[in-house]
Amino acid sequence: MTTPPVPHNGPLITDEDIAAVIASLRSGWIASGPQVAALEAAFADRFTPMRALAVSSGTAALTLALHATGLSESHATVAVPTYGCSALLDAVRAAGCRAVITDVDKTSLTVSPAQLDDHPACDAVIAVHTHGFPADVDGLRDRVGLIIEDCCQSLGGTDMHGRPLGTTGDAAAFSFYATKVIAAGEGGLLLLRDLEAWEEGGSYLDPAARERWAPRFNYRLPDPAAALAFSQFRRLDAIVQRRVAIADRYSEALPPNVAPPPGLAEGRVPYRYCLRASGPEQQQRWLSHLEAAGIRADPLIPTQHLLHRQLGLDPVGFPTAEHAVTATVSVPLFAGINDEQVEHVTLALAGLPD
Ligand SMILES: *Cc1c(COP(=O)(O)O)cnc(C)c1O
Repeated sequence: MTTPPVPHNGPLITDEDIAAVIASLRSGWIASGPQVAALEAAFADRFTPMRALAVSSGTAALTLALHATGLSESHATVAVPTYGCSALLDAVRAAGCRAVITDVDKTSLTVSPAQLDDHPACDAVIAVHTHGFPADVDGLRDRVGLIIEDCCQSLGGTDMHGRPLGTTGDAAAFSFYATKVIAAGEGGLLLLRDLEAWEEGGSYLDPAARERWAPRFNYRLPDPAAALAFSQFRRLDAIVQRRVAIADRYSEALPPNVAPPPGLAEGRVPYRYCLRASGPEQQQRWLSHLEAAGIRADPLIPTQHLLHRQLGLDPVGFPTAEHAVTATVSVPLFAGINDEQVEHVTLALAGLPD
């Protein structure tokens, strides 16, 4: 008997989640309604003093953040880390802002204060908490006027001072895409610190909010999706604890020559469990070893998907990100992974070659 391969990702949908969606469908209210309001209230409560707007995706949350905070209107210059996803660039361009692509910090794989020193003219930064590793928001704050935290990979995590990620910037974007910490298929949420920005953001979502025509987006989240997200949000602490327990198990099993992923400190949410190989040869050896054991490990970002490459910029300016993509091995750690699969991965990690 051969066991099916361990996939790299997969959601966990419980009977409770299914019941929540069914109840939402039975209620007869399938557009944005009471479930959206409940989800927003729950986020606002957990992320005090931020205010919440549920939206249709993480990309929509980022785009709306740029509009709600006035960055769009002023065609602001926004720093964006190259190691991320195209959603960052999509949002900045959609909002009519100018993107400045930065290299990333070696450990956190996100934009650091030092990188902003190379780009002093930026008005704002999208600080991605990459794989759940907190960006240095305090350090960025000293260098730029406005900070949008990208929490699409870090829901439930905290920074080094124990503050929830999403509460230290001016705005924070979350995604409920199928592979994220909580998953509604598609969906997202925007937190805003400022009351006026929140009202402005809300007016983009509400068809009745404007007396005269002004741009408006249908970025709304339907109630059944909100019900699914809210059902999972209620067990967020348990979801994070399970991720931490699995990450610890993997780290204990690693042979002495393999370092555990950096940044799995207390309070962090291990969205990914990324080993860092010395370079492409070791990366390939590790991927092959795991593949042979029936485990779908993943290098995550192909070189050509780095944002500077997408824009045709000279790679010489982005050495850390260029190296990171040829060294990363993301080991399966996802919401729906079962105990047997965790044991299987743990055993394979113990046998990682040099
Ligand atoms: C997933 C993700 C997004 C985009 O979210 P969508 O819901 O897919 O639009 C943005 N930023 C980061 C860091 C992500 O991981």
